[in-house]
Amino acid sequence: MYDIAIIGAGPAGASAALFAAKAGKKTLVLDNDKSMTKRAWMENHYSVMEISGPDMLETGKKQASKFGAEIIEEKAVNIVKLDTGLRIETENSSYEAKHVILATGALVDLAENAGLKTKPGTEPRIKTVIDVDSNGKTSIDGIWAAGTVAGVSVHTIVTAGDGAKVAINVISELNGERYVDHDVLKG
Ligand SMILES: Cc1cc2nc3c(=O)[nH]c(=O)nc-3n(C[C@H](O)[C@H](O)[C@H](O)COP(=O)(O)OP(=O)(O)OC[C@H]3O[C@@H](n4cnc5c(N)ncnc54)[C@H](O)[C@@H]3O)c2cc1C
Repeated sequence: MYDIAIIGAGPAGASAALFAAKAGKKTLVLDNDKSMTKRAWMENHYSVMEISGPDMLETGKKQASKFGAEIIEEKAVNIVKLDTGLRIETENSSYEAKHVILATGALVDLAENAGLKTKPGTEPRIKTVIDVDSNGKTSIDGIWAAGTVAGVSVHTIVTAGDGAKVAINVISELNGERYVDHDVLKG
């Protein structure tokens, strides 16, 4: 049983996985390599002068893997509630986790299959999003959402930030107290 399973390894999902794995949580990431960010070129991502979408995606996955996140290239097709957590079903397999974070970008088919409450999107070119509260909680307990699919502005600094915010909320719920991840500059 994973502590946290994240569906999507775009800026929102990989950022969430980085925080979850770095907090020592057993973290799984499922991704089917259809990120819109693959077509992007960023000159407005704070603290990075310029970066291509493919480089950003690769670096994000490397950061999460460095702290132990397991990244598996598979498509999640359904999420089923269990007494002890949630089962994520993919085309060829299934995984169990205490919490699941959906970071599926502009794609809501998994959310709809899982029976999550959705609503019309308000950002340009985003048709439907998952209905979440300010913490990222969805209509099904244990399932959270972050990034584009949670209705935030479709910019990498915002979606990556939202992924981090939601992961910190899930970690805090698992730990029973607010979580902080600060490293200190040595010397
Ligand atoms: C042409 C273009 C140019 C852009 N330029 C900029 C820019 O200059 N600056 C900027 O800030 N932003 C830019 N963006 C927007 C940027 O790409 C998005 O803001 C954003 O980062 C989206 O992140 P995300 O993690 O929410 O979604 P995505 O990056 O789309 O990631 C979602 C991931 O979820 C996976 N997934 C979905 N469903 C499933 C499933 N069922 N099972 C497994 N995996 C699944 C997908 O494969 C994908 O990898 C641009 C976007 C485009 C299209």
